[in-house]
Amino acid sequence: MKDTRSEALSAARAVVAIVVIAFFVELVIMQSMLFFGHAHQESLLFTILDAAILSLVIAPPIYWLVLSPIKQEYEKRLKAEHHAEEMGRIAITDPLTAIMNRRGITVGLLDAMAQAERYRTPLTVAMVDIDHFKEINDTYGHDTGDRVLKSVAAILSDALRMPDKVGRYGGEEFLIMLPHTNLAQGSKIVERIRASVSKKIFDQGAKKARVTVSVGVTQFKPGEDLEQLMSHADKALYDAKKGGRNLVVARKSR
Ligand code: GH3
Ligand code: MG
Ligand code: MG
Repeated sequence: MKDTRSEALSAARAVVAIVVIAFFVELVIMQSMLFFGHAHQESLLFTILDAAILSLVIAPPIYWLVLSPIKQEYEKRLKAEHHAEEMGRIAITDPLTAIMNRRGITVGLLDAMAQAERYRTPLTVAMVDIDHFKEINDTYGHDTGDRVLKSVAAILSDALRMPDKVGRYGGEEFLIMLPHTNLAQGSKIVERIRASVSKKIFDQGAKKARVTVSVGVTQFKPGEDLEQLMSHADKALYDAKKGGRNLVVARKSR
C-alpha cells in the first residue's frame, strides 16, 4: 500500500519535473529563434501554449519508457543486495540465541588471530560451558533448556564491549574472544560473567532454576593455529569442570 503510494508520488514528481524542463527547453529554443529572427513576436503566446501541450504529451511516455525501467532495475538490484546481505547474516547467526554461530565466531577469531599475530597485541579466548545442562533439560524440559540457553547468551553478549565477540560454539558451549586483552585482564572479565550467570534466577512458575558455567581461558600465542589455541581453551575448561564446576581456569599457552 505504502509502496504503491510512494511509487505514484515519485512518478508524479518525475512527470512534473519533465514537464517543467521540457517547457523551459522549448521556451529557450523559441526565444533564440525570435532573437535570430526565425520567428515572430506574435507567436510567443502560441509558443508557450505549444510548449506546455507538447510537454504534457511527451512527459508520460518518457517517464514510462525511460525513467521507470531504470528505477525498477535499480530497485531490483538494491533488493538483491539486501537479500544477499540478509543471507550472509543468517549464515553466521545462531537461530535460537541470535548471537553468532560457530562459523561466525570462528571467522571472527581467525581474523583476531591474524591481527594479534601481525601487530603483536594480546588476544584472550574463553570457552564457556553450562554445568550439568542435561539435568536442566531432564528436570524442566527442553523448552526451558532453550530459554536458559537464550538467557545465558544474552548475559554473555551484554557483558562484552566492542571489539569483543561471543558465539555459540556447540550445544551449551559458548566461545568468547577478547582482542587487546591479556590473560589476567581476560580472566577478570570472564570471572564477572561467571558470577552474573550464577546469580541469575530462571523463573519456572513455582520453581526457581539456577545455572552455573565453567570457563576455560587462554591467551593466544603468536605462531599457534586455531586448533592449538582451541585445545588450550578446552584443556582449561576441562580443568574447571574437574575443579568442581562454576569456576574459571586460566591456562597459559606454551
Ligand atoms: P557438564 O557439566 O559436564 O558440562 O554436563 P552437561 O550436562 O552440561 O554436559 P553434556 O554434554 O552431558 O550435556 C549437554 C546437554 O546439552 C545435552 C543436550 O541435550 C543439551 N543441548 C544441546 N543443545 C541443546 C539445545 O539447543 N537446546 C536444549 N534444550 N538442550 C541442548
Ligand atoms: Mg558441553
Ligand atoms: Mg555442559
